[in-house]
Amino acid sequence: MELQRVSENCFAAINAKNRVCDANSGLINLGGGVVIDAQSDLGHARRMIELFGKVWPSMPKRVINTHEDGDHVWGKQLFEGAEIIAHRTVKELMPKVADPRETQHLVKAADGFLMQVPLKVLQPGALAVARQLREDYDFEGIRLVLPTTVFEERHVLDLEGTEVRLIYVGPCHQVGDTIIHVPEEKVVFAGDVIFRECTPMGWNGTYAKWLPVLDFIISLDPDVIVPGHGPDRGRDGDEGLPRIRAEESQRFYAQGLSALEASRRIDFGPYGDWRAPARLYMNVERAYREFRHEAADTPWDHAKVFDAVLAVAKARGIQVEF
Ligand SMILES: [Zn+2]
Repeated sequence: MELQRVSENCFAAINAKNRVCDANSGLINLGGGVVIDAQSDLGHARRMIELFGKVWPSMPKRVINTHEDGDHVWGKQLFEGAEIIAHRTVKELMPKVADPRETQHLVKAADGFLMQVPLKVLQPGALAVARQLREDYDFEGIRLVLPTTVFEERHVLDLEGTEVRLIYVGPCHQVGDTIIHVPEEKVVFAGDVIFRECTPMGWNGTYAKWLPVLDFIISLDPDVIVPGHGPDRGRDGDEGLPRIRAEESQRFYAQGLSALEASRRIDFGPYGDWRAPARLYMNVERAYREFRHEAADTPWDHAKVFDAVLAVAKARGIQVEF
């Protein structure tokens, strides 16, 4: 994890490995300190606190959650007494979506010799993702901490005269998607609305909502966009991936191909160098859900998703990575 200064008072802790769960965090070092997202496990959250500790005078008074996924909320218990701000739906959905027990069980099952055989046969994708996760993560001891302040459309913080705008943009990648705009410093913390140099994973939301949000972020004219995953830098073009995937999915859907079959064929194009290119299956399946007019919050079978990503990687002869 690396500390980056992105503007006078804004910082980012970037997880350079950039695989699943390697989420970024932000810091606005004004008004008692505001942290944006709290990492995937306690070890990574402690590392983030250590890095931000190099620039902040004391533990921050506020934590913002960009959405409800575990990889952005599981380190929050280390911010004792902080105000925790998120969209209303994050508070409602977190207990189910970010229940750490499912991930804890998965990783434990992959550790147990006796469980490995049935997992491999029944859920080879889940076994592969569990093996990858345990290389970097320990999900034990995580306690869910819910937001203490929720908002509906917008929430504005005045930090020593610097305005910080929390803007609800969901559901595009996930139901509670919120971006944080610091106009005076021309910075946007985009959460998982933007993935960079790793293939986006979208859960409950639609491209119909996601694509206009990308335009909206550009219309804010930021100098720096800090993505939910991947390196921070300017704003050059790579927000284009969801747009391209939505268009390609449409073409294969019209030909009657399944999402899995389409994912075996879609050209990775310039995104083949991004991490975990086989995750494109999720992009395609989400597009298909819209074409079939399914609800944006139709539940996912996680084991099936991981199996499909594994199948795409194998079919294309690329390294299995999530
Ligand atoms: Zn994430």
